[in-house]
Amino acid sequence: MRKKLVAGNWKMHGSLAENAALLAAIKPALAGIEAAVCVPFPYLAQAQAALAGSSIAWGAQNLSEQPKGAFTGEVSAAMLLDFGCKYVIVGHSERRSLYGERDEIVAKKYMAAQAAGLTPILCVGESLQERESGVTEAVVARQLDAVIQAAGVGSLGKAVVAYEPVWAIGTGKTATPEQAQAVHAFIRGKIAALDGAVADGLVIQYGGSVKAANAAELMAQPDIDGGLIGGASLVADEFIAICRAAA
Ligand code: 13P
Repeated sequence: MRKKLVAGNWKMHGSLAENAALLAAIKPALAGIEAAVCVPFPYLAQAQAALAGSSIAWGAQNLSEQPKGAFTGEVSAAMLLDFGCKYVIVGHSERRSLYGERDEIVAKKYMAAQAAGLTPILCVGESLQERESGVTEAVVARQLDAVIQAAGVGSLGKAVVAYEPVWAIGTGKTATPEQAQAVHAFIRGKIAALDGAVADGLVIQYGGSVKAANAAELMAQPDIDGGLIGGASLVADEFIAICRAAA
């Protein structure tokens, strides 16, 4: 049986004071439940101090594909490791659409994360226009293939995949459990065709307007192994309820 994993993606939200309150609320409530929070870079030390020794891991939302050097404003995998990160999100649709991250750069970031011993959470997903033109599977396949070709299918044994339909992110429009399950099954089937054991063990999270009210029915789907949570991860009671629904 795969373990489910819920991770919060705080995006560009929070402050020292807000984070302290949020972390203090979720830590005892999630004792013994594996979960994660991906926080803005400046708050990694705060997350590390607050969560060390708990069942909640922490990570970042992006990293450089470069190991070090004259790359102003960038943050390396080794730096994330320095702050005890376990996870790093790569290829989030906001990075792809707002910062021009193409499949090739996402694959490089994925490899840089793994080379340092971090677990990448690789985001894939189609836009509304792509869904409506019937190319959802082709888009998700292309995004996965970029990583499989660069790093090999075996690399997915040390990664998490997050299916996040772009039209469901921050919109309040969740994919129905059936819509999400269909794409999750497609992803697992595609990987199973290359390596059955990797496919069986792969945690595939769903992301896009997950809340306490819809988490249980999403998590009940056979190929949905947790969630990547945006807005609701900033509200302690919501995040706690979602993690419990997956546990
Ligand atoms: P929301 O949960 O706010 O829709 O965001 C989902 C997301 O993008 C998580 O990475």
